[in-house]
Amino acid sequence: MTLPAVRTRTGLALREVTLTYPDGESRLTALDRVTLEVAPGEFTAVAGPSGSGKSSLLAVAATLLRPDSGQVLLDGQDAGALGEGARTALRRERLGIVFQQSNLLASLTAVEQLLVLESVRGGRPKAARERAERLLASVGLDGAKQRRRPHQLSGGERQRVNIARALFGSPSVLLVDEPTSALDHERGAQIVDLLAEVTRTHRTATVMVTHDRDLLGRADRVLEMQDGRLR
Ligand code: ADP
Ligand code: MG
Repeated sequence: MTLPAVRTRTGLALREVTLTYPDGESRLTALDRVTLEVAPGEFTAVAGPSGSGKSSLLAVAATLLRPDSGQVLLDGQDAGALGEGARTALRRERLGIVFQQSNLLASLTAVEQLLVLESVRGGRPKAARERAERLLASVGLDGAKQRRRPHQLSGGERQRVNIARALFGSPSVLLVDEPTSALDHERGAQIVDLLAEVTRTHRTATVMVTHDRDLLGRADRVLEMQDGRLR
């Protein structure tokens, strides 16, 4: 089978991706020949009901799950062609992920949530701290809030920390799962506006999945997911 041609050599591309899960005697098809391209600076929203395959789509795009067939390309690099170590490196260098479940560490301040990654990367501590502070300020968290721990921040503020943390490694692809599910409408709208803004300023190829239809107008493009198929 020949796969469709890829328009962009940067950003994110999925080609004819199929993903199944074991389901008793048979298999459940979570993604059914999904093709998607998102260019740098483009904010794409994927809408669809619960169970339609949205989180599966992000897990495959994040190279955390290997599809049964099809390709995932990050900046033109075929993730499936890489071994485990190279794929982990690719993920670390190219991807920012905001998971549905916030996984901020309870004992760390906002700025430390970002720096914990830098200590893994082995960069210079002072420059990293300044960069983390600038990034947190740019998503709307002032100096005092940067020194708070997750339980001392609101849901919207925690989501801002999650976004800043995802951007800290200068990713080219930003994947965001249901960022507004724990927020009221107004705060949810602010978070989606922020995602639109960071997509422009950081030139990320951004994919946000959501079942919240009210917020789709802020995206450059809206795709519909239904039973594992993308339209
Ligand atoms: P959404 O994020 O749109 O709610 P998911 O991608 O989480 O959808 O799920 C798509 C389908 O795959 C659902 O039918 C779900 O029950 C199933 N599914 C998701 N994860 C697993 C898993 N780890 N094992 C088996 N089935 C799964
Ligand atoms: Mg989901």
